[in-house]
Amino acid sequence: MENVKRVFIVVERCVGCKSCEIACHIEHSKSKDLYKAIFEIPRPKRFNTVLKVDQYNASLRCAHCEDPPCANVCPTGALQKDEETGFVTYNPAKCIGCWQCAMVCPFGAIYPDYETLTAAKCDGCIERVKSGRLPACVEACPTNALVFADVKEMEQFKRERSLRELTAGQKVSIFELGVV
Ligand code: SF4
Ligand code: SF4
Repeated sequence: MENVKRVFIVVERCVGCKSCEIACHIEHSKSKDLYKAIFEIPRPKRFNTVLKVDQYNASLRCAHCEDPPCANVCPTGALQKDEETGFVTYNPAKCIGCWQCAMVCPFGAIYPDYETLTAAKCDGCIERVKSGRLPACVEACPTNALVFADVKEMEQFKRERSLRELTAGQKVSIFELGVV
């Protein structure tokens, strides 16, 4: 699907503060309020994880794959591609807990729910996005390390960033760089 927006990660901007993890918990709480969500039972879930590898931090979540292996292997149709947004959604009522999806997901983006023994994952904040808002994790990131964009927009962002790096401190024209 064209123009499907996803959450992209700009690794060098991530400071590992975990604001995105907290925002995901709050978004999946009943109250949608941090101070009330802390006391909710069951504890509100989150579907993203901030990891540190060497000197880098990164906030990882479902990539809402174009051809999602998780949905392809699911024997019950619990995981589906939403035609409107392109997000891969899940329906816990259909899940039988076979974990085929967890086995094939290349990003470790399936979060087993150990209370119900069903699969759970990032839903792309689908209701927020349909109403014109950003996913909660993107909105919460204080350093703009998470970018909600389609792949064309992300490629343009990377070109511009690359050009800024190439020209930093140098008086060269883009013609000399061979860009055009
Ligand atoms: S859960 Fe994994 S396989 Fe499924 S759409 Fe997300 S990233 Fe792709
Ligand atoms: S664990 Fe649930 S969602 Fe995952 S493949 Fe099995 S039935 Fe589908």
